[in-house]
Amino acid sequence: MNYDIIVIGSGPGGYVTAIRAAQLGFKTAIIEKESLGGICLNWGCIPTKALLKSAQVFHYINHAEDYGLNKVEGSFEFPNVIQRSRGVANKMSKGIEFLMKKNKIDVILGTAKVQKGKKVSVTDKDGKSTEYTGTHIIIATGARSRELPNLPQDGKKVIGYRQALSLPEQPKSMIVVGSGAIGVEFADFYNTMGTKVTVVEFMPNIVPVEDEEISKHLEKSLKKTGIEIMTNASVESVDTSGEGVKATVKTAKGNITLEADILLSAVGIAANIENIGLEDVGIQTDKGRVLVNEWYETSVPGYYAIGDIIPTQALAHVASAEGITCVEKIKGMHVEKIDYGNIPGCTYCHPEVASVGLTEKQAKEKGYEIKVGKFPLSASGKATANGNTDGFIKVIFDAKYGEWLGCHMIGEGVTDMVAEAVVARKLETTGHEIIKSIHPHPTVSEAIMEAAAAAYGEVIHI
Ligand SMILES: Cc1cc2nc3c(=O)[nH]c(=O)nc-3n(C[C@H](O)[C@H](O)[C@H](O)COP(=O)(O)OP(=O)(O)OC[C@H]3O[C@@H](n4cnc5c(N)ncnc54)[C@H](O)[C@@H]3O)c2cc1C
Repeated sequence: MNYDIIVIGSGPGGYVTAIRAAQLGFKTAIIEKESLGGICLNWGCIPTKALLKSAQVFHYINHAEDYGLNKVEGSFEFPNVIQRSRGVANKMSKGIEFLMKKNKIDVILGTAKVQKGKKVSVTDKDGKSTEYTGTHIIIATGARSRELPNLPQDGKKVIGYRQALSLPEQPKSMIVVGSGAIGVEFADFYNTMGTKVTVVEFMPNIVPVEDEEISKHLEKSLKKTGIEIMTNASVESVDTSGEGVKATVKTAKGNITLEADILLSAVGIAANIENIGLEDVGIQTDKGRVLVNEWYETSVPGYYAIGDIIPTQALAHVASAEGITCVEKIKGMHVEKIDYGNIPGCTYCHPEVASVGLTEKQAKEKGYEIKVGKFPLSASGKATANGNTDGFIKVIFDAKYGEWLGCHMIGEGVTDMVAEAVVARKLETTGHEIIKSIHPHPTVSEAIMEAAAAAYGEVIHI
């Protein structure tokens, strides 16, 4: 019952923390109330990508002629598509079970509550409570779909991401509220499978955190695929009394009513800070998140928090990196603080979006004199061979020292390419060094080198 480290929550924050802790020789336990792997493996990153893959295969089948093949009419049973996605999620969750065993981490199933004196009480599914003590307690309880007061989720007609990942039947029409990564990925999946999708976004651009040119390009591309997109618009109220959903949407031109089978609310997340004992211990929160310092220590010594429950970017890779940093610091290692300015962000719709660093607007606001280079994928041999020429690469360098300030990409496969920019920026690589780093031909990654060359007037293929 006594551990060096107790981790609460087994998402990509918690399970990675536990593995690193065990590697460092700590006697470690992890507590989970639902499924190992958290939102990421069970209801987030992985099952959404499985659905998007099914949609992409379906799209390719229906476009066989574009590749010189005979025309085929793709068809599917919606429950089978959902079942595949659930199967992928379950497989990944089982993989975490294996990793816990391999690293000799005790898995405790139940709902945890922190208590004073570095204790954690765990209530199992039969209501039995057990107390554990840890020298260090790391809270990684994650987050859930955020509910707006005027958009309460009933789980049937007004749904969150969990239901969108497990609908028994495909809706004929869907309103997606919010066009961040989650909203846009579901919009793309359902639209590709034949649902009539309308996206409603409060901000002037979809994927609002991205560089404006990327957002505008994505909007055009998604509209071409048949998705209706309303920006500068907000859902004021929903009426679910009829057969489907009627949403009153406020636009610059006045209120309009949208009707659909289902409304997906994708307006962000709310951290799981309730009923986990924070108040009893005196751990401070602000605006719904747990406050921590740069080493993830909460306001009470011995208690730490990482991942979606703290006010940093709500991404799986961020949660994992925070957990590793946290336990390495506890171990007394010389640890580098996380550079939150060099976190890549990806959206896996088609075309994909990936970026790291400053947008053009942010770079200008920070007072940089900049050099911007762009390269269209229509000029890439590999993208043309792939039949995926929609998109471009945009790179931003500091004109004075050549620092790579930002990399913004839209196109098939860019989510697997953005790591190049992350590493290069970490190593303080300059624009000229990118141009002189020979990229393999033919790959879409050459477009990054070409975009860098474009910034310096040396581009070859346009
Ligand atoms: C639809 C969707 C798609 C996403 N796609 C991506 C993506 O492509 N890339 C990306 O980087 N991020 C993505 N995310 C975000 C990513 O899933 C989260 O950032 C990540 O899961 C956060 O990890 P975490 O460990 O902080 O928390 P979580 O993954 O939320 O895990 C927290 C765990 O704690 C458990 N728990 C909570 N309270 C208790 C308690 N009291 N006792 C015991 N256990 C408890 C929960 O059951 C859960 O298993 C997506 C999210 C969603 C919803």
